[in-house]
Amino acid sequence: METPQMDARLVTFLNDNLVALVVAFVAIAAIQVYWFATRPPRPFLMPDLYQPLTLSMKRNVTHNTLFLRFKLPEANQTLGLTIGRHVAFTFTDPKTDKPVYRPYTPVTDADTKGHVDFVIKVYKGGQMSQHLDKLEVGDRVEMKGPKGRFTYKRNMKKSIGMLAGGTGITPMYQVLNHILNDPKDTTHVSLIYANISVEDILLKKNLEQLVSKYPTRFDVYYTLDNPPSGWNQGKGYISGDMIKNNCPPPGDDVLMLYCGPSPMTAAMTTLLDDLGYSKDMRFQF
Ligand SMILES: Cc1cc2nc3c(=O)[nH]c(=O)nc-3n(C[C@H](O)[C@H](O)[C@H](O)COP(=O)(O)OP(=O)(O)OC[C@H]3O[C@@H](n4cnc5c(N)ncnc54)[C@H](O)[C@@H]3O)c2cc1C
Repeated sequence: METPQMDARLVTFLNDNLVALVVAFVAIAAIQVYWFATRPPRPFLMPDLYQPLTLSMKRNVTHNTLFLRFKLPEANQTLGLTIGRHVAFTFTDPKTDKPVYRPYTPVTDADTKGHVDFVIKVYKGGQMSQHLDKLEVGDRVEMKGPKGRFTYKRNMKKSIGMLAGGTGITPMYQVLNHILNDPKDTTHVSLIYANISVEDILLKKNLEQLVSKYPTRFDVYYTLDNPPSGWNQGKGYISGDMIKNNCPPPGDDVLMLYCGPSPMTAAMTTLLDDLGYSKDMRFQF
């Protein structure tokens, strides 16, 4: 039970230490304000919620491909996508009044702050890509993620083979960039990249730069439906021989990644089966 003597001692203590107590209180408050003001913001993406991002840059990469940059809400914020995962875009098609959902893989890496970049191929009659093509700087797109089942871990395999068709290059490019830019990662990557014509090859300059920067860790083989005269790489769809000649043979230390239009991925599944790559040795994005 409190006594009058205890009350008096408390009042004396408070009087004697008033200045110190006020200073301590102000210091704690200042530390809290500083911590809240300078702490890195949480990554943007939320797995269960579509959130809008504003288009801040738009330009043509090829005759039918766009580069789109979206601004993140805070300048020091990351998107929050781990390597090998993608996001989903959605919009409601005014013609059908139904929502459209499509997966896209950023070409910016996981550490990029303040914005996220995409390379998008525009299809004639393509619901989402036609919608994206009509956007102007300042318009917004709803996106959600991370999505996907693939998780890349440093040196998870000795060699990785990649089979990409058209925009199927985007998840490959993200994984590739991450591997090559990590000096502790010794994985060798071989890419076979199929397109209709030279003009359709996405990120060609970026891929060439990676080949010349990392000649012992990365090689790329292009194949075209309509090659120009004098073309000395592949002709037509990706074949078993192309895979045998340019990718690592089946083995426990090998992973084959593939992505592209549905007929291409179906054909790749059959080819990989025939060549002896078991289900553990391959992943379709
Ligand atoms: C993991 C992953 C990541 C991806 N990342 C990217 C990326 O970064 N960039 C990118 O550009 N794409 C990417 N894609 C592809 C993307 O998700 C879409 O499939 C692509 O943009 C086409 O969508 P769309 O709505 O424009 O076309 P859709 O409406 O799906 O149509 C696609 C094509 O089919 C034709 N078509 C549609 N309906 C019919 C019909 N009934 N009969 C005949 N033809 C028809 C269209 O004319 C068009 O040519 C990715 C796919 C995956 C799986």
